[in-house]
Formats: sequence, C-alpha cells, structure tokens
Amino acid sequence: MITRVLAAVINAWLALTPLRGLAAVAWRSMPGDLLGQAVVRLCGVTAPSRRVQLADGTEALLYEDARLGLYLDNVPLRPYAQTLGRIVVAREAMPAGTIRHELEHVRQWRRLGPLFLVVYGLESMRVMLMGGHRYRDNRYELAARARETDLEPKLTMREITGR
Ligand SMILES: [Zn+2]
Repeated sequence: MITRVLAAVINAWLALTPLRGLAAVAWRSMPGDLLGQAVVRLCGVTAPSRRVQLADGTEALLYEDARLGLYLDNVPLRPYAQTLGRIVVAREAMPAGTIRHELEHVRQWRRLGPLFLVVYGLESMRVMLMGGHRYRDNRYELAARARETDLEPKLTMREITGR
C-alpha cells in the first residue's frame, strides 16, 4: 500500500516535469546506467556481450561475463543476474526467459528512475512485514517473472548487432 502510493506520487511527479520523451527516459535511466557502468568496469569488463531491444523500444546492454561474479556474489541473495538502469549483468550467457525478466526491470527503472532502488527496498520490507519472501513475493519481481513467458507482440525481443 505504502509503496503503491509512493509509486503513484513519483509517477505523477515525473509526469509533471517538463522533460518529455527521450530526454525524460535518458534522465531517469542515467543514474542506473552510471551505476551499472561502474560495476562492470570495476569487475574488469569493458564491452557488452549483446544488446537487445523489445518491440516497444525498451533496450538493454547485456554484460555476460564470469568476472561479474565479483559483484553478484557480494549482493544480497547472490542473484543470477541484476539490472541497473539499462545495464544487465550476469556471470554467463543468459537464457531468453531471463533476459525478458531483466527487460521488465529496465522498464521499471525507466518508470521510477533511481527511486526504483528505494521503492523496491520498501516493497521488500512491506512483503516481509506481511510474512512473505522479500524477493519471491516482491511485486516488481512478480511483474518481471510474468514477462518471462509473455509473448505478446509488443514485447517481441530482438538482438541488435554491429555495435
Ligand atoms: Zn528480478
């Protein structure tokens, strides 16, 4: 409830800002992108392995490299993959379902900007207070998990090469 209200307030605020379209997307995604780039560089990885795009324009750079375990092994719950802005990091080449899951997190970052980290944390707290699991029952994870097998046309995924 608290997080839903918070998310609604933040979305309303973002809708009122003069930034529109691409500029707004760039601004909201930038802190996450910078964080993602910092993580990738600190792990010694210099180039993405793939770049993927959904039919609705959602885009992500995939960094799939064993060295990213340096970071992922030190994150709570040691995730298989993680999304920071439009950067997705994993220790190995990800299956399509996982990429679709992470692309939903890219969309969440785009909606909430850097506040996504705060809102996600509050949502985990809410779920735990209700006796649930902070990761499994988190609404942002439920939404991402629903996308893993969602094959509606606007979410058709393609790989972009030549970058
Ligand atoms: Zn997830």
